[in-house]
This record gives sequence, C-alpha cells and structure tokens, in this order.
Amino acid sequence: MENRLDDTPTILVVDDEQDIREGSARILKKIGLPVLTASRGEDALEIIKKEKISILFLDLKMPGMDGMEVFGHVREIDPSILVIIITGFATVETAIKAMKDGAYDFIPKPFEPDQLRIVVNRAWEKLRLTWETERLQEEKRRTLNDLDTEKNRTYTIIKSLPIGVVVTNTRGQVVLMNPSFMRLIGLSLDQKPGNRIEDYVSDTGFCDLVREISSGRHVDFEDISDYEFSLTQDKYLLAKGQPVLGERNECLGAVMNITDISPMKIMDQMKSEFVAKVSHELRSPLSTIHEQLALVIREMVGEMSDQDQHILSRAKEKTKGLISLIGDLLDLSRIEEGLEFHEPEPIKVDELLQNIVDFLGTRAKEKDQSLTLELPENPLPPFTADPMALESIFGNLVTNALIYTPEGGEISVKADMAGINIRVVVADNGFGIEAKHLDNIFERFYRVKDDKTRFITGTGLGLPIVKGLVDSFDGFIDVSSEYGKGTAFTVLLPTKSL
Ligand code: ADP
Repeated sequence: MENRLDDTPTILVVDDEQDIREGSARILKKIGLPVLTASRGEDALEIIKKEKISILFLDLKMPGMDGMEVFGHVREIDPSILVIIITGFATVETAIKAMKDGAYDFIPKPFEPDQLRIVVNRAWEKLRLTWETERLQEEKRRTLNDLDTEKNRTYTIIKSLPIGVVVTNTRGQVVLMNPSFMRLIGLSLDQKPGNRIEDYVSDTGFCDLVREISSGRHVDFEDISDYEFSLTQDKYLLAKGQPVLGERNECLGAVMNITDISPMKIMDQMKSEFVAKVSHELRSPLSTIHEQLALVIREMVGEMSDQDQHILSRAKEKTKGLISLIGDLLDLSRIEEGLEFHEPEPIKVDELLQNIVDFLGTRAKEKDQSLTLELPENPLPPFTADPMALESIFGNLVTNALIYTPEGGEISVKADMAGINIRVVVADNGFGIEAKHLDNIFERFYRVKDDKTRFITGTGLGLPIVKGLVDSFDGFIDVSSEYGKGTAFTVLLPTKSL
C-alpha cells in the first residue's frame, strides 16, 4: 500500500528490557505515534509480517535470536523499514556494522526521552521525504501513461479521418501519414513514413508547398493558399497546409490535409461546358435580332409612333445587355479552360494603361469625373501576356470605377514596381463596398444591390473575369473599400525577372 505524506508511521520497539520497551512506548505515544513492542526477535518478525511498520527500534543483545539476525530478516521482509539500533556499550562494534549494512540510525542505551524524540523525529522526516519522492515518481509515471494514451487516441482519430493527413518535420520528411492520404496519393498502405515528401508524392508544386511551410516561412499564418493538383486524369485533389508550431511559436514542421474534389471539379467542368455551349448557341440568333431591331428602328424612323420607337429601343438595349452577358460568359469559360485569346507578347504596361485611360477618358468626362494616370519615372519592364487579357483586366477595373462613382468623382490609376511585381492600383472616391460583400464580389454573378447601385445594370461577371485572368498570370488581386468613401483594387503581376 502506498504511503501518504500525512500518514503517521507505526513504530515497533524490540528490546528484552521491559523498562526500555515500556518507557519508549510511553514517550512515543505522547507525541502521537502508534507503538507496538516485542521482547524477542521472533515475536518482532511475526509483527512485521502482519503490520505495516515504518520505524523499528532494535536492541542488538537479546536472548534467542540476536539483533543482527533479526535485522537481516527485517531487511528481507520489508526493506523500507527504517531500523534504529539500540546499542549498549558492549555492542558498539556490532552497531557500527549494522549501520554499514543499512541501519538508518542508532541510539545509545540508556537514553533520555529527548534523545529518543530527536532520533524518531529525524527518522520521521526521512520517511516523509521518501514518501514524497515516491509520490512524485508515481505522478510522473501516471502523467507519462496519460500522455501515451492521449497520443494513441489522437493517432487513432487521425487514422480514421476520411481526409488525407500528412505531417512533416522541418526538413520536409514525412513523420506521419494516415491511410486516407495513402489512398488519395495512390501509395500502398504498408508504406512507412521517414522519407522526404517527394519520395511519396510526384507533384512538384505540392512538394514545394510542403517544404515551404515546413521550413517555417509561414509561422505567422499569413495567407497560405490552397493548392489544387491532380495525379491521375479525373482525380483532383485540394491541399490545405499549416505550420505545426511549438510552444515558442517556432515551426516544427507542416501538417497538410488533402481532400478529393474530383466530383466537384467534374461537375464544375460540366457546368462550364454547358454554359459555354448554351451561350455559343444563343449568341448568333441574339446578334441577328439585335441587328434587325437596329435596322427596323433606323429604317422606320418617322413611320412609328414615339411609343413604338421607345419599345423597340428598349428591346434593342436588352438584347445588347444579353449579348454582353454572353460575351462575358464565353470569356470566363475560356479563361477557366486556360485558353489564351491571343499569342502572348511582351507588353509595355505603361502604354497599355495610357491607352485605356485615354479611351475611357471620354466616358469619365460625360460624368464630369476626373480620370488620372500616374506612372513611375523609369518605364515598367515589359510583361509577357496576351494583350487582350491585360486590357480586359484594367479595362474592367477602370470601367467599374467610373460606373460605381457618382458624377464629379475622382478615379486614379497608379502603376509602379513592388519587388518583382508590376503593381497597378485603380482607386476611386465613389460608392464604396460594404465589408460584408468584399469576400463575394469576385464570385460569378455576384452584384451588390444597395440604394446607390440598384439601378446600375451589369452582369456580375466582370470581377470574376479579372480575377481569372490575374490568376492565370500567377498574379494577385486585392480590394480595399470603405462604404461611402471609395474603393481601391490592387493588382500585382509578377515579372519573374528583376
Ligand atoms: P458588374 O459590374 O457587372 O455588376 P462586377 O463583377 O464587375 O460586376 O462587379 C461586381 C460588384 O462589385 C458590382 O456589382 C459592384 O457592386 C461591386 N463593385 C465593383 N467595382 C466597384 C467599385 N469600383 N466601387 C464600388 N463597387 C464596385
């Protein structure tokens, strides 16, 4: 049974002299200690076998079994008992031997009550320390056990997850992977961790991302982009990664989770194909209707009532809106398929921006708006791209700025270099966008409808087109806006060389 710190040790006094036995018992009981006594060694051993004795006062010179023999047996029965030798003048030598053999202390006979108290208190203190050490050791053992159980439990959970999980250390070596990960990646289930990530996954982009996160480049959890990849045709995977951080925020490695997004991807592709097909089929009849309406309006002017003319003009406007919607949809599906509009060529972005600002300047003037362009002193490096794509990006952003800014407003386009990126900021002091919409405006067909924008027509496809194109250049687009104050779109286009 375990001892507790506040346990009172039971004491056994073994001496053939009755005075010593009873005297000691009296003194010890007075200080609150339970005491048993024995006059012979054999009786003492019987007691020790039955009772939990903590401190034993043992006389060396007794008839029958002598003290040293009793001491030997006691050590075998219960080595934790603290033995204090009661020694007379004649037994000093033996007492020294007993001490060498592990007796805790000795008390010379005859002794005063105070001497006995001092010796027993010292032994008691020693017991307390021993018990405390045992308790701490037990506690440590239990904590380690708990940790082990917790680790096993966590591992069982990770193993049963339907999403793939792989964990690497700072050098990008795999330290843990679950069966779902192995299945998704196409590894056999008996593969063991331990090697570098590229020994398991053939996709270089994925491995680069894992190594990048493992090396601690993202410890502040700055935006780590999701990564899409496919290892076989028709199997698309989405990887999300995070650094594993230690107590002092140091990076210990990366944890990546991988989901199978093939069904979604295939659905999306089918949807895009469907939209592209339908749009394509609708475009030519609609264009014909539009042209014929224009013709009728032109030819029959004067022969029609004002009301008829108004109705036809509205119909013509609507078909124009539909044609532009179809144009946007077709553009979008081309971007999604990764098709270029024209051959890429080195483009002077400063000139391209100048052309757009000149061209849209007339529209700005109609609304009494100022449209300015600020270029850096040194010309920007050429950017290799499909010129139509760049025109579409900045044309859309500047047009939006003109549309969503009231009469007399200010629109500015600024271009400069930010590291290896060409940075273009299109800013206006117009309606602004409420924070709750900011995450959605790059989604297809998303339009903000509030008091100021309700009557503005549009398709909700401009920004998705812009984002799709910027992404196709491995670029970055961000928006900041304050409702009622204005909006700024920032585009970064990586030149890759500098
Ligand atoms: P559309 O302009 O055809 O509605 P977009 O995809 O170009 O579609 O824009 C989506 C929405 O984002 C718009 O409906 C508008 O509410 C908002 N928006 C875009 N640019 C601006 C801007 N410069 N200022 C305020 N709101 C804007």
